[in-house]
Amino acid sequence: MEALKTMINDMFHKDCSSCTNEEIYTALLTYTKEALEEKGYHNGKKKIYYISAEFLIGKLLSNNLINLGIYDQVADYLKENGKSLAEIEEVEPEPSLGNGGLGRLAACFLDSIATLGLPGEGIGLNYHLGLFKQVFKDRLQNETPNPWITNNTWLTPTDVTYTVPFHGFELESKMYDIAVAGYQNKAIHLHLFDIDIADESMVHDGIAFNKKDVLHNLTLFLYPDDSDDDGRKLRIYQQYFMVSNAAQLILDEAVAKGCNLHDLADYAVVQINDTHPSMIIPEFIRLLTAKGIDFEEASDIVAKVCAYTNHTILAEALEKWPMSYLEEVVPHLVPIIKQLDEKVKRKYPQESVAIIDSNNLVHMAHMDIHYGYSINGVATLHTEILKNSELKQFYDIYPEKFNNKTNGITFRRWLMYCNHPLTELITSLIGDGFKKNAFELEKLLAYKDDQEVLNKILSIKTDAKKVCKDFILSNTGVEIDENSIFDIQIKRLHEYKRQQLNALYIIYKYLEIKGGKKPEKPVTFIFGAKAAPAYVIAKDIIHLLLTLQDLIKNDPDVAPYMKVVMVENYNVSAAEKLIPACDISEQISLASKEASGTGNMKFMLNGAVTLGTMDGANVEISDLVGEDNLYIFGQSSEQVIQHYEKADYNSKAIYEGNADIKKYVDFIVSDQVLALGHEENLRRLHNELVNKDWFMTLLDLEDYIKVKNQALADYTDREKWAKKMLVNIAKAGFFSSDRTIEQYNEDIWHLTK
Ligand SMILES: *Cc1c(COP(=O)(O)O)cnc(C)c1O
Repeated sequence: MEALKTMINDMFHKDCSSCTNEEIYTALLTYTKEALEEKGYHNGKKKIYYISAEFLIGKLLSNNLINLGIYDQVADYLKENGKSLAEIEEVEPEPSLGNGGLGRLAACFLDSIATLGLPGEGIGLNYHLGLFKQVFKDRLQNETPNPWITNNTWLTPTDVTYTVPFHGFELESKMYDIAVAGYQNKAIHLHLFDIDIADESMVHDGIAFNKKDVLHNLTLFLYPDDSDDDGRKLRIYQQYFMVSNAAQLILDEAVAKGCNLHDLADYAVVQINDTHPSMIIPEFIRLLTAKGIDFEEASDIVAKVCAYTNHTILAEALEKWPMSYLEEVVPHLVPIIKQLDEKVKRKYPQESVAIIDSNNLVHMAHMDIHYGYSINGVATLHTEILKNSELKQFYDIYPEKFNNKTNGITFRRWLMYCNHPLTELITSLIGDGFKKNAFELEKLLAYKDDQEVLNKILSIKTDAKKVCKDFILSNTGVEIDENSIFDIQIKRLHEYKRQQLNALYIIYKYLEIKGGKKPEKPVTFIFGAKAAPAYVIAKDIIHLLLTLQDLIKNDPDVAPYMKVVMVENYNVSAAEKLIPACDISEQISLASKEASGTGNMKFMLNGAVTLGTMDGANVEISDLVGEDNLYIFGQSSEQVIQHYEKADYNSKAIYEGNADIKKYVDFIVSDQVLALGHEENLRRLHNELVNKDWFMTLLDLEDYIKVKNQALADYTDREKWAKKMLVNIAKAGFFSSDRTIEQYNEDIWHLTK
């Protein structure tokens, strides 16, 4: 730590103990950046370029210190000087470069690529104001900008710049880098492209801004509101800016290594993370043909370089751009896309696989599948649904392109960093081999009947709940009871994820307690979720949760037995505090709709027990831990898919046919709730549930109540519960993103270390 000591002295002319946390953070940032540069970067002839509109990387200081292997030394040194690394971390703003699971996955993948020693980099955009910051006001979600780039930033400017052509003008880009350290290994780069003339001052009234002023707004926000034409076009501007920079960089790097462009596939593989980067396909073809390669060969070259990951079967999330928008924004891509489409139509005339449909919509995923060599789903069930129903028409043509890569999470952040006590316990029992080979966690099964170990697991959980209690108090002002059961649902707010199902359980429970049925053990229901700014019903659900929070808190009959608390501005830093403290992990999406989920994996790894539907990776969790060690309820994905095919789901019939369900749903618009909440929001939500309920909340409600009650009852047998916790931790190894990335490399990328 001599070097750090000297650095602090040189920078501030005093020693560590007299520095402010801000000063120490500044010094640690420089110190860590230098350490990363010293380690160097992975290189190789062929590289993986992981292109994504989102990288939800979280705070970087501690993670970098862990991966550099100096976390404990630094923490001890600071402690000796009367400082706390945990407090210094508070100085660091969380980069707001992602929305949810898809962006967090990209971040976990970069960690694993670097850790496994693969040559690769991430490519994305440098959004100055991020997604948005969620602020609750009057029990409603408001959005404000989330600036995260300060003078002390992990971003390093580079000299790399490209010209990106649009209709009628060009933009000069500038590339910034963030180093992503591998665990006990070299680093890789996350390249973030930006414009120099982004103007944050145009933002007013929350997150409103002039959507037409592309010259100055291009890199302000991730996912600008797309409820109008200008917003949708801005997304195309952003996407094209991202992929044009990426394609130019990739070709330059390949040529610098001796590539003659015909052999591009020997130098580069591009993983297209969802459809936002799909325009890289026509952009590559544009650049290759400009260098004299004919169209046919160019499209063959690209088809050997690009691979596509599908993340959703929700129709509204599969991007389809009107041709007229593309003509307006990127007219130079239009003839290329048309040629690609004609080529497809000559061979496969059926409209279901067309790139351009009869309404002149361009199906981005279809372009990826025809002109990429791999398409993967993100959990076994999801990939099967793609093959057998959602993308069956493509599977019939290209069965060899389809493969599954079940998602994963980096254990460095989601265990070693966020849960030191559990990491130490595991290390003391089975050594630290699991840090590099997560499957070694299975060795914990030997302690399944060891009373002492089970007690330690329980006490680590209680300690984490105390830490979480402080976090929740500072975030929400609500004091919760660390001796209550922590039942947690944290994820983006979406009807398919069914926070409204959880809310109906809370109403059920509230009415039970009002009726005199006191639970054996108090429960705290914890939520965290951002809703897309234009997603009306999602915001209504937030309003209901915040209203229930206050209703219950203010009711002395009920407050001792249950509490509801919704964390504001849920993000990675919040997740790191909430996940270690969780007892029951709510994974209650409508079966078939959650492609994988990764929150479910983080919870399991930290000893929470899953309460979920047979959806996404929950199915694989269930296979691994066995039915005694999680709680499954609800209709199967086959049943749900049948309901959609037959269009026979009728929520009104359930509502009218079941007096209990009617009572819970009607409580949303009861006098008590209306007295606190807003009538417009609550009536709209009530109406949606009764008359539409597209994600079949009412269908699963009875079973959910029954199974959740069972889980809460089982919790009181502490020894039995601790065994479930241990089995979940022991079986989580499969969900390491190191395993996922090994499989990507084995089956798709074929890189040499
Ligand atoms: C892991 C994570 C997610 C994804 O959660 P799911 O439950 O899989 O949807 C979203 N946001 C943050 C901040 C996360 O850390």
